[in-house]
Amino acid sequence: MKGLIFSVKRYSIHDGPGIRVTFFMKGCPLNCMWCHNPEGISPFPENVIISDKVGEREFSNSKEVGKYYSVENILEILEKERVFINQSKGGVTFSGGEPMLQFEFLFEALKACKENGYHTAVDTSGYSSFENYKSIIPVTDLFLFDIKHLDEARHIELTGVSNIGILDNYRILLNSGKDIMVRVPVIPGFNDDPDHLKKLKQFLLSTKTESLKKINLLPFHKIGSSKYKRFNIPYKMDNVEPPAKGRMQELKEFFSEVGVKVKIGG
Ligand code: SF4
Repeated sequence: MKGLIFSVKRYSIHDGPGIRVTFFMKGCPLNCMWCHNPEGISPFPENVIISDKVGEREFSNSKEVGKYYSVENILEILEKERVFINQSKGGVTFSGGEPMLQFEFLFEALKACKENGYHTAVDTSGYSSFENYKSIIPVTDLFLFDIKHLDEARHIELTGVSNIGILDNYRILLNSGKDIMVRVPVIPGFNDDPDHLKKLKQFLLSTKTESLKKINLLPFHKIGSSKYKRFNIPYKMDNVEPPAKGRMQELKEFFSEVGVKVKIGG
């Protein structure tokens, strides 16, 4: 069995504790307007043309996005970084795209990583069946769980899918005994109005269990915008500016009332 992965990031320090290797799995059932990884949305390998300029000369190269990895390949990559991973109390993170879209491979990879002594994390939009989440709970130490909007209609508008199952899965994982870090993308004009933020804080407070370890506030940025052209996907966020540092600081204080650590960024 193989999994389709579009990027492998070594020495990652934003996807869970310590130094980690993060595998970005290809394919996502959501279509968030602000997605920073549009190359992760299609569940198929893709060929893109990358243009570059050196002096007056322009170069175009074709690049394959998405390669198939076996569980053994994953373990070989991790083994090379084991010293850093162990010294920093790090591990392995499966991100995307949406890693749960390749559930069978994800399960086998997590199981093998646990058997080999690695701390495991899954970075998820929450959009998969409850049965799938239930299956990976025993082989996952940490869930990085996105909450983008609480209102269902607005969630559909922004991401293309309902949030009902997502919020149900969140509540279930909160009672799994595993660690959870909630990730809230802060998208000006989309989910940062005072009414929504108040409801979100209340939701995080009322559902809180021992599992909730941290809230990460992820400020919107445009770093991935140039990738849209390469993938022939229209970019809809040209008129949206990243939130100011002062605003992020205010939100950090606001969400600290939930009673867990709040961090700006991953
Ligand atoms: S869930 Fe993540 S990967 Fe999927 S479209 Fe949204 S931002 Fe992109």
